[in-house]
Amino acid sequence: MINRNLVAFGAVCAVVGIALGSNISPDNSFKVPLVAEAEAAGGVIKGPNVVAPDRYVYYPGTEVLAKDEVRVIACGTGMPDQRRGQASACFIFEFGNGEKLIFDIGTGSMRNINALMIPAEYLTKFFISHLHTDHWGDLDALWAGGWTSGRPVPLQIWGPSGRSEDMGTAYAIKHFLKAFNWDYQTRAFKITPVPGKIEVHEFDYRAENAVVYDQNGIVIRSIPAIHAGDGPVSFIIEYAGMKLVFGGDSSPNKWVVKYAKGADFMIHEAFGTPEFFVKDYGQPPQLAWRACCEFHTSGPSFGKIMSAIRPRHAVAYHSMEEALSEVRDGIRQTYDGPLSMAVDMMVWNITKDKIIERMAVSTDRASGVRGPTRQPPPDRSIPDPMSDFIKGGEWGPGFNAQNDLLDGHAKKYDLQKQDWRKQKPWYKPNK
Ligand SMILES: [Zn+2]
Ligand SMILES: [Zn+2]
Repeated sequence: MINRNLVAFGAVCAVVGIALGSNISPDNSFKVPLVAEAEAAGGVIKGPNVVAPDRYVYYPGTEVLAKDEVRVIACGTGMPDQRRGQASACFIFEFGNGEKLIFDIGTGSMRNINALMIPAEYLTKFFISHLHTDHWGDLDALWAGGWTSGRPVPLQIWGPSGRSEDMGTAYAIKHFLKAFNWDYQTRAFKITPVPGKIEVHEFDYRAENAVVYDQNGIVIRSIPAIHAGDGPVSFIIEYAGMKLVFGGDSSPNKWVVKYAKGADFMIHEAFGTPEFFVKDYGQPPQLAWRACCEFHTSGPSFGKIMSAIRPRHAVAYHSMEEALSEVRDGIRQTYDGPLSMAVDMMVWNITKDKIIERMAVSTDRASGVRGPTRQPPPDRSIPDPMSDFIKGGEWGPGFNAQNDLLDGHAKKYDLQKQDWRKQKPWYKPNK
């Protein structure tokens, strides 16, 4: 199955120009399927007015996972420098038991998360590999956006300690909340305070394969990574008898080779070549070859790691899309196994039997989605963030001009008894 799927991916990617893996199966056999058997893009379409049996697309919200299945969606695969077409690192893992866990939430990635139209109340658990902004820069958008779109509970964050207290996750989140205090106070008073809380589960970044999460049949372990300073980690996720790996930024390290061995599904960074960063990014050559190959993992190094681990499927990310073909060429010098070169909105369905890669197709205009649970009420015990001085500046004619609109709304939803206008000195009801 994997062999045939990889043939299909190759066909699609030739069309859309995405660099992908070779058609080499895990046992190194290569067979061109008969046309009748082929699983090309859309499958074999047997007439001019029929449903395509096997499109290379995933439409969010239309597929229920099997109990032993995991769906992984790349919501960001790029670099810290923001571009409209590619967000920074972010992967969502959806499990057949209903759990949805976010691994890194780099700058720009929340737009892709919202395009999946997953209700905010199911996006409450976030694992952070390290504290570079391209791995957590959109936490503000998850925090506040989920608040306004119905999350009824606090966010929970799992992340590593640092070499000193001020380099760890707990310190970062404590000061994140201080920086956004104005946002917190105003929403707590007007909406509800609960979704604005963040519970931090900080763990020792030096722990080797230590369990940092064990709930509902999902076990997550942390291993150290080597990247820019002490603190970064990678995660090993066990579910339904499978081992999945989410690697944060790291140069090649002994822990990943040891503990990720035999993984079913393995996400790991693969950085653009030094020459790419000199030519396309204007970096000084000295910085370019250290960035790629001392603080990160280059293509040939990624391949060497995968050849040692032999995952059922490897995923490379953390390069600009234009750099992917060069990165893949580097990987193929040292690894011939199943491979995806990740781009934003690439999706994998993973079971013990098969791993399928597709692209998510979604609208640019999706918004946060509300789930079934109502949020707790506002907190009116805290001081009103708006003073009488500012309220005294409200211009009555501007407010009263909305009376027809608001009267209609009050009538439709039976809100007359809660009419906020009655406390206002400027209120002049329509006759
Ligand atoms: Zn980093
Ligand atoms: Zn990074």
